[in-house]
Formats: sequence, C-alpha cells, structure tokens
Amino acid sequence: SISKRLQKIARYCPQGARVADIGSDHALLASYLLVKGMASFVIAGELNEGPFQAAQKQIHTLQVKDRASVRKGNGLAVLQPGEADVICIAGMGGQLIVSILEAGKDKLEGVQRLILQPNVGEEAVRLWMIENDWQLIAESILQEDGVIYEILVAERGNPTLPYEGKERTQEELLRIGPFLWDEKSEVLQEKWLHEQEKWQKVIVQLNRSDKPEAAERIKEIEAEVNWMDEVI
Ligand code: SAM
Repeated sequence: SISKRLQKIARYCPQGARVADIGSDHALLASYLLVKGMASFVIAGELNEGPFQAAQKQIHTLQVKDRASVRKGNGLAVLQPGEADVICIAGMGGQLIVSILEAGKDKLEGVQRLILQPNVGEEAVRLWMIENDWQLIAESILQEDGVIYEILVAERGNPTLPYEGKERTQEELLRIGPFLWDEKSEVLQEKWLHEQEKWQKVIVQLNRSDKPEAAERIKEIEAEVNWMDEVI
C-alpha cells in the first residue's frame, strides 16, 4: 500500500471530489483515491518527463483511464479553471508550493480545498493562506521512517488563524501551526526538539569561531532555542 503520509492526505479529500494532484510523481496518491473510490476524477500533474511517464504507466495499469488524466506541465498550468474541487501538492518545499499557488492563482477559482504537505517551510505556506483568504481548517503531523511530515488543509474563508491570542502570537502560530499547537502531540514535541538540537550544534560551532559576528549570532540563536523550549 501507499505510505502513511499519502493515506493521511487522501483522508482529507472529500468523498467524490475531483482531485488534482500536482507534482504527482508516480501518481500513487491519484491511483489510491480512485481505487478506494474516494475521488470521482483525478488529474495528475507532473513537470518532469520521467515521473510523468511513470504516472501514465501507473494509470494505464490500473485501467482507470476514464476517471484519470495525466498531464505534463508546470504547477497549476495543467488545469483548466473549474476542473478540480481539491488541489493536493505534497512532498515539496513550502516555498515551491507557494510559488506554484501564486503562479496559478487564476486556476484556484472554484477550488474548494487545498491539501498541502510541505517538507520544509510550513510557515511560508500558512502565511500565504492568510494573505490569500484561505482558512486553515485542519493540520496533521506524523512521523514515518524517521521523517516528520506536516499536512495543512485549507478552505476559502476567514483568513485568520484559530486560537489567535491564546498563549501564542500569530507569528508564533504561523511557525508552529495553530491546530498542532492545540493538539501538542509527541511528534510535534519531537520536531521542535530536533530543531533545537540542530541549533545547539550551530552554537557549539560558533563558539569555536573567532569572527567578531559570532557572539551576536550566538545570542540570536540562543533566543530561538529558548523560544523552542516553550513549544516543547
Ligand atoms: N507528491 C508526491 C508525494 O508527495 O509523494 C511526489 C513528491 S516528489 C518529491 C515531487 C514531485 O514534484 C517530483 O516528481 C517533481 O518532478 C514534481 N515537481 C516539482 N516541481 C513541480 C512543478 N512546478 N510542477 C509540477 N510538478 C513538479
């Protein structure tokens, strides 16, 4: 079967939706949605020739051709306006996800839900949502094969973060994730513990440096590390 991560993403797709999976690689998510009867139609978009061909082959093998369309192109350029109810973009950096959404804004009309799974840079994705009238409605964090993943789900609506003003500022919630903060799972704690350890190593390195800027940088990082204590 497909990864826990992709299964979790699939569960956020409303039953019977027309789903576009952008950057679909081997079209594993799209296939899963069809085989499980979760989506009525899927569009698998791919920028690169290799994964595009793999996606085509996968859809051909499953004999679900009438309910699937595999397209080669950059981001949302493969879509016609109004064609998809849901857009999934998973397994890329947050900045790339944001640039795909930004470049394809005209294709978002009629889209009801975004399911985004940035590998890094979740903060940039949450910020894009509130700046573009998308309301974060759910978040998940999970660990698989030693890697921690976050899934962010948004629908059109109130572009403010929930739990705003409760213990954490908006800026902090953009980093942590408001639903994840509310849930305070072990995986979330682990994520920030890892992050903290990474920065502590940088402090050790900087302490060995005799550059004059080092002391200032150490202070900044120490403030970060202390902040992370509050998340853990
Ligand atoms: N979405 C799958 C997942 O989460 O398992 C695959 C993730 S894979 C790491 C990222 C895929 O996105 C690659 O197959 C890559 O070719 C594709 N990709 C990168 N930039 C893209 C873009 N601008 N438009 C469409 N696909 C893109």
